Amino acid sequence: MRGATPAIETSHAGETEGAEGILTSAVLARRAKQRRQIQINIGLSYLLDVIVLLVYAYAGVTSVALAATFGACGLLSVALFIALSEAHINDRFEDHYLIVFQSTVSVGIAFAFILAAPQVGIVFICAIFMTFTFSSLRSTPRQSAIGWTITTAGLAAVFLLTDKPIGMPDDSVIERLGTMLQFSLLLGRTMVLGLFSAGLRTSLYKRGVQLKEAYKRIEELAELDELTGSFNRRSIMRMLDDEISRALRSKQPCSVALIDLDWFKRINDRFGHPTGDEVLRTFAITVFANIRSIDRFGRYGGEEFLLILPETEEGAAERTLNRLRTIVADLDWSAISSGMSVTISAGVTKLLPDDAPDTILARADGALYRAKDLGRNKVVQV
Ligand code: GH3
Ligand code: MG
Ligand code: MG
Repeated sequence: MRGATPAIETSHAGETEGAEGILTSAVLARRAKQRRQIQINIGLSYLLDVIVLLVYAYAGVTSVALAATFGACGLLSVALFIALSEAHINDRFEDHYLIVFQSTVSVGIAFAFILAAPQVGIVFICAIFMTFTFSSLRSTPRQSAIGWTITTAGLAAVFLLTDKPIGMPDDSVIERLGTMLQFSLLLGRTMVLGLFSAGLRTSLYKRGVQLKEAYKRIEELAELDELTGSFNRRSIMRMLDDEISRALRSKQPCSVALIDLDWFKRINDRFGHPTGDEVLRTFAITVFANIRSIDRFGRYGGEEFLLILPETEEGAAERTLNRLRTIVADLDWSAISSGMSVTISAGVTKLLPDDAPDTILARADGALYRAKDLGRNKVVQV
């Protein structure tokens, strides 16, 4: 394919396929639009060559008829590919741009005119160059190899099997002007293609960055509990595994606490479920604001939370939990609903050498049960 400014899409946003890989009508319409733009650019590129041929015709090297015929052939080929595209025949092919077909036609036209008007052969050689430069933006390595082979065969036929001199007119000022124009327009088109592919690279880079950010966000969301923003059960259990292994490996202490909101059912019953949700959120934020960055806090289920305190002996862990208990009890819960007060109970235990996640959690749960038994708003350490 040849052309001045390809309209290759820089964004694949919205390119969705159905369950069986069927492209949606929106995608098909967008592809058809891109093909239309590309064909317009190819048509414009032919017209630029026609201008150069007309300058040569003015200089007397070739005829206006040849320029017109070349333009007509080029534009007819463009019309043919527009017709195929609008009939959506292209969509039946994996390469919906029909790169190989259109490149072959463009190169075929160029070779025909090299033979018909070798004295201005440079125009058509440049046309082949443009075809390659343009199509290589879209081609697969296999398609490029096919295109290169066909073109090399054509070049061999023109250069080796005929003895016609391939001309680059430069006898008169007008001829030199035509040749200069030819190279200048060729450079211009190549430059536009270069700028386009640079733009494409930039936009691909930006898209890559956006995708990375989105992926990170998805990962974060997959780890967090939707309501409280603390780690969800899956994540906090994984962290418990990790922290146990780390503590046993490094022979560092580690403590674990199960925290449960007291009489939470009553809070729901009295103030409503949405207010209960607000209490859970406020509680989670309060805990986050009062623990260390190495501590791990997640929702174990319902109104029960798991706090992992690495590098913490049981005494320090108990003090931390009592501090949290006091902070929660002293919080002005009436700001959420008047007459509301919230307390927590916690069961704390330290990691023992033979502990597995189940055993340490069972001990913490036992301690929590005792804290409830002792009247709630208590921390029990075992
Ligand atoms: P205890 O002091 O013995 O823990 O009593 P409790 O009422 O807190 O415990 P219980 O297990 O009887 O009730 C827990 C309540 O927590 C019941 C359930 O509806 C509520 N709950 C669990 N998850 C949510 C939630 O996401 N939002 C709200 N609003 N309530 C929840
Ligand atoms: Mg409770
Ligand atoms: Mg509970």
